[in-house]
Amino acid sequence: MVRIRAGIEDRCFGCKIHKNFCFCDHFSNLQLKTNVSIIMHVSERKLPSNTAWITKQALNNCSLYIRGEVNHHFEAAHVLSEQYIPLFLFPEEGALPLTKTLVSQFNKPIQLIVPDGNWHQAKKVKMREKGFATIQSVCLKEHYQSIYSLRKEPFMGALCTLEAISYALKEIEGEQTFEYLMKILKTMVYRTDLVRRGYNQLLPL
Ligand SMILES: [Zn+2]
Repeated sequence: MVRIRAGIEDRCFGCKIHKNFCFCDHFSNLQLKTNVSIIMHVSERKLPSNTAWITKQALNNCSLYIRGEVNHHFEAAHVLSEQYIPLFLFPEEGALPLTKTLVSQFNKPIQLIVPDGNWHQAKKVKMREKGFATIQSVCLKEHYQSIYSLRKEPFMGALCTLEAISYALKEIEGEQTFEYLMKILKTMVYRTDLVRRGYNQLLPL
């Protein structure tokens, strides 16, 4: 077995994994009404284990915003759009469980604002960014078991960003969107694990 190490030039631009393990063919053009806006801490940007980038690739209506950059002021107002009802996905005090019943009360599509990064960084997003202060926070309605094994400390102490968004969109958009995203996550986890174990190509089924 030949060990491979994925340098920048060996990685697929789309899914950030070694080109031999590319899973870009899993991304489909699923049309969602919901906008997902991920607020990512700058320190996460280059980590291949970050799932925010994969979420952006997988969804037609997803934007990634970077905060914490030197010499660049993050502006919450640039994220928000009047087209949508904004909801802030973070399990803080006062957060409402995100359920189909809650979603049915809104007369506009939802903009799901998702802080990304470790727990500490995510918690700071709403505290520091005044433009987000009055937005209703929501939390997932249950505790889910994570299947994401690529990091010791997943997002919110339990789930990675892609998983948290998958469970949120299950309530907002439905089962099909959830299944689609979870299949991508499972593929990412499986293939990244193969790379880390030194395989240089996908195993024949
Ligand atoms: Zn790819």
